[in-house]
Amino acid sequence: MSLQEIKTRITAAEAAADRPAGSVTLIAVSKVQPNDRVAAVLDEGQRCFGENRVQEALGKWPDFAETYTDLDLHLIGPLQTNKARQAMELFNAIHTVDRPKLAKTLARLAQELGKCPDLFIQINTGAEPQKAGILPAEADDFIAECRTLDLPVKGLMCIPPVDEVAAKHFTMLAEMATRNGLDGLSMGMSSDFEQAIAHGATHVRVGSAIFGARAYAQA
Ligand SMILES: *Cc1c(COP(=O)(O)O)cnc(C)c1O
Repeated sequence: MSLQEIKTRITAAEAAADRPAGSVTLIAVSKVQPNDRVAAVLDEGQRCFGENRVQEALGKWPDFAETYTDLDLHLIGPLQTNKARQAMELFNAIHTVDRPKLAKTLARLAQELGKCPDLFIQINTGAEPQKAGILPAEADDFIAECRTLDLPVKGLMCIPPVDEVAAKHFTMLAEMATRNGLDGLSMGMSSDFEQAIAHGATHVRVGSAIFGARAYAQA
């Protein structure tokens, strides 16, 4: 599929949900993709990209930034506290605030750097033991804690369990955001972004449907 096709499908999903055109931000997930494919999507006009790993992102985006000055980079993968500073310097948004220790580190660095990316709190909506994120029962308290730390929390993010109906998780995340007065909803990937838009997603994270399958290098 092409970038243009995905954008057309997003526009149709916005209309079908009676939402204004342009209310959904497309994050093109470029992790692991070769630079020539990323460059092709940049040349089609896309500026908002998602990366999973700080190290990998540092290896490609500072170079692209010399040519494309209006990039909007989103970290969508787990963030270790020892990479937090680099992440805050590179990214415009971080979608994976998932524990108190990270929140405190981000707050301290925000003071030091005098700026902070937009933050999304990752919720483990399926309470999966292997998955990062705040448990649903702890979400309200954690959001309040982040606000006490003066962090710029824009919204919530989730990755539904692969073997469950995603809609249930999108609904849960939307309710949680509403009751906490948050507007941002980072949810929906290649296989379910239209459904996520129907449930109020403001940011969809689409990788393989734009770039093709990720070819992970053999060690
Ligand atoms: C890789 C990734 C995506 C994109 O997945 P696709 O199925 O390729 O669209 C979205 N969100 C997160 C958190 C990811 O790690």
